[in-house]
Amino acid sequence: NVKNGNKNNYIYYHPEMKTAMTRKVEIESILRNALKENGFKLVYQPQVDLTTGEVIGFEALLRLKDYQIGPDRFIPIAEETGLIIEIGRWVAQETISQIVFWRKKGFKEKTVAINFSSKQLRDKSYIKYLLQLLSDNNLDSRYLEIEITESILLENDKETIAFLNELKEEGFSIALDDFGTGYSSLNYLTYMPVDKIKLDKSINDRFVNSNNIKIMESLILLAHSLNLKITAEGIEEWDKFLILKKWGCDFIQGYVFSKPLSSEAIEGIYNQDLIKKNRGSALIP
Ligand code: C2E
Ligand code: MG
Ligand code: MG
Ligand code: MG
Repeated sequence: NVKNGNKNNYIYYHPEMKTAMTRKVEIESILRNALKENGFKLVYQPQVDLTTGEVIGFEALLRLKDYQIGPDRFIPIAEETGLIIEIGRWVAQETISQIVFWRKKGFKEKTVAINFSSKQLRDKSYIKYLLQLLSDNNLDSRYLEIEITESILLENDKETIAFLNELKEEGFSIALDDFGTGYSSLNYLTYMPVDKIKLDKSINDRFVNSNNIKIMESLILLAHSLNLKITAEGIEEWDKFLILKKWGCDFIQGYVFSKPLSSEAIEGIYNQDLIKKNRGSALIP
């Protein structure tokens, strides 16, 4: 237990609590530094079309260059401290430069998805910022996909729908991330302007096996009846890959195909013709 400043006023902490608080302050300062000192990087995880086997695009995932602290740990702190606004802009800017760079190398027609945190709804000029970046880089908005989480839909309905509609009108594609982990009503799917849903790993772990495919089958049917594409995320095993293909899931993203890779590694694979020549399809029996 720790004594705090004023002699008459003892504040007791559990040792673990103090450690957690110290850790949070540390991570906050790591994030501030990373913004100043170019300490972030993006890794890219391929997404595969289950019918053609083609790599259709990537999800950009944020990393700290010098620390083994993952985004599940630091994104919540970035959100709490408001740093997510500046970080979100960095992610968009870095992704767009990467797409432009890949396109110059002949690596065309792939989309890259970026994650958008609900706290970024406070970034009122975010869409303007995106459009400015695209026009500065002479890039069409259809190469950028915006991933929003299910929980964003609960935050502020009117504002969120307006935000999503504006994105759609500007030609961005929208994916609903972490589907199945939060909101239990499926009703919002009928009026939310999304193009794609991404089934969370936890859902796939529970429902994608030969004994328990009914739920998955229904979700895929539901998505398709609403004209939504469906991506299964976090697929690690071949049997799941095959079951999802059989039941008409559109895309997968998971270790079974590839972990998130550095931009250089993606280029390396591309140059070896592995992505160009549909490595995915070569893998699908
Ligand atoms: P997410 O958007 O749902 O991203 C998918 C996560 O699943 C990634 O974790 C990815 O590496 C992991 N994954 C993909 N396939 C597999 C698999 O087969 N097995 C396993 N075990 N994991 C797999 P990551 O990169 O650690 O990111 C975690 C979360 O952090 C993301 O979940 C997203 O919510 C958030 N995040 C990452 N980058 C950003 C960002 O730039 N902005 C915001 N706002 N959030 C981000
Ligand atoms: Mg995501
Ligand atoms: Mg997800
Ligand atoms: Mg997630």
